Amino acid sequence: MNRIVYIFIFIAAGTGLWLLIKPSYPEHKRIFNNYYEKDTVNRKEKNMEQKIIKTDEEWKRELTPEEYSILREKGTERPFTGKYWDHFEYGTYICAACGTELFESDTKFESGCGWPSYFQAIDSSRIIYKEDKSYGMIRTEVMCARCGGHLGHVFDDGPPPTGLRYCINSGSLKFISKVK
Ligand SMILES: [Zn+2]
Repeated sequence: MNRIVYIFIFIAAGTGLWLLIKPSYPEHKRIFNNYYEKDTVNRKEKNMEQKIIKTDEEWKRELTPEEYSILREKGTERPFTGKYWDHFEYGTYICAACGTELFESDTKFESGCGWPSYFQAIDSSRIIYKEDKSYGMIRTEVMCARCGGHLGHVFDDGPPPTGLRYCINSGSLKFISKVK
């Protein structure tokens, strides 16, 4: 009899404890919301003051036609055609429009999708994440936080440790080689 009382108390205490500490995020927000929202909020201010705003004419003058169509018109390069999908040198990938450092080569992986893929951004506050419902899909668009340039999309089917796959157009990036 005593044992049953103890088991009951144990279960009740366990349930109470779980209710106290269970994550407050709803299930549908899951992995990447949990992952990037925390540190994005605090640092948004910093990005706002550094924001680069230019007219379409100015961007057109500064960017190549391919860069302009991706970064400013949200275009997508054809898979397996960009300059970085199969590029695995040591260095940093920066925004082709404003030079913000976005991805490190040691977070790049071969995803087989035909676009450069990264499991992590250098700093999630350098990225704007936005729901994209175009083409009958619900995706998360990623943009450069500093200049607003379109980069690509992020999916939650990437490898550990983040489980993310930043699927980025080569045409929105430039590569800065580092000596090891
Ligand atoms: Zn940029």
